[in-house]
Amino acid sequence: MKKKQLIEHYQDFREALLDWFRRYQRDLPWRRTDDPYHIWVSEVMLQQTQVKKVVDYYEKFIDQFPSVRDLAVAPLQDVLKAWEGLGYYARARNLHKAAQIIVDELEGKVPTDYTTFRKLPGVGDYSVAAVQSIAFNAPYAAVDGNIKRVLARLFLMEAPINDAKSAKLFQQKADALLDLKEPGLFNQAMMELGAVICRPQSPACLVCPVNLFCEAFDATRQAEFPKRRETKPTPEHRLAVGVIYNKTGEVLLTQRQLDGLLGGLWEFPGGQIAKDETAENACIRNIAEVVNLSVRNVRYLTRVRHAYTHFKIVVDVFQCDYADGEIALNGPRDAKWVTIAALQDYPLPRATHKFLDELGK
Ligand code: SF4
Repeated sequence: MKKKQLIEHYQDFREALLDWFRRYQRDLPWRRTDDPYHIWVSEVMLQQTQVKKVVDYYEKFIDQFPSVRDLAVAPLQDVLKAWEGLGYYARARNLHKAAQIIVDELEGKVPTDYTTFRKLPGVGDYSVAAVQSIAFNAPYAAVDGNIKRVLARLFLMEAPINDAKSAKLFQQKADALLDLKEPGLFNQAMMELGAVICRPQSPACLVCPVNLFCEAFDATRQAEFPKRRETKPTPEHRLAVGVIYNKTGEVLLTQRQLDGLLGGLWEFPGGQIAKDETAENACIRNIAEVVNLSVRNVRYLTRVRHAYTHFKIVVDVFQCDYADGEIALNGPRDAKWVTIAALQDYPLPRATHKFLDELGK
């Protein structure tokens, strides 16, 4: 069949995409509900996280907090625990805060208008368009990384997808393509296309339902798009942490401040290793600085590595014994002595989970 100029055939494009989506969409739990709160939870989880991983977390989260009211009254620690391992914990804290606002100020109902919903903590342009369109069929085009990739290929867009300055261009293209009769279905179909057909590597163009409209496919230039702005190499930080045991065999956990990376999670005290400092000395120094304790009998346990979006960490972990001092916090929000068995009740960062099995060996 002859290629169709997309710009002249938007309606044909919509029909082809929606027809494919209706037939072949994956059966996902959040597609079986019309509860706006459930749809919202799924959209928040899906940002930065793969569908496969989200399915399990979503079902457990909804079981534990079935309504916006249940989430609003839950302790933050329970919410963070349910989120543990999904990463980007600000998403969970914001969702929790937003649920409280909805219950306190909005009669417990997820707002059906764009502006009120957009003002809730953690709700950005993508979330508002996705939730409002899927839950209420409102005419907003959602644009995430997957959709940008599809648009870049469909229209041979030169704008780098990782440059904030390009956002407007992608939004304009998405707005023009949007099916105004079924915006929620259309947004989901675009997301699905990006996830299963127009994949980052090796897009499945031959079975793509919209290949007839695709400029990149027509020009055999799929591999050149999307364009990306060059980014700096990811920095690596070296850290030393100490698992401090007291006389009764409990260990000291500190809680991070609520704002910022891993906010509200619990961890073992420690910090960065300075230039020309040994990891062991850094562990002792950081413990003194952060919780005001001195330790003795410091022994190396293990090394773990972990990658975040913008940096990597290499952590040397030591076990040590409490020697002297009263806890005084300089940085953490809270500190607690807990048994090894009780560690599982606390939301802990992934990097900490990587060495938990080594404790007490
Ligand atoms: S034809 Fe290929 S490059 Fe174009 S939208 Fe479909 S999968 Fe993506």
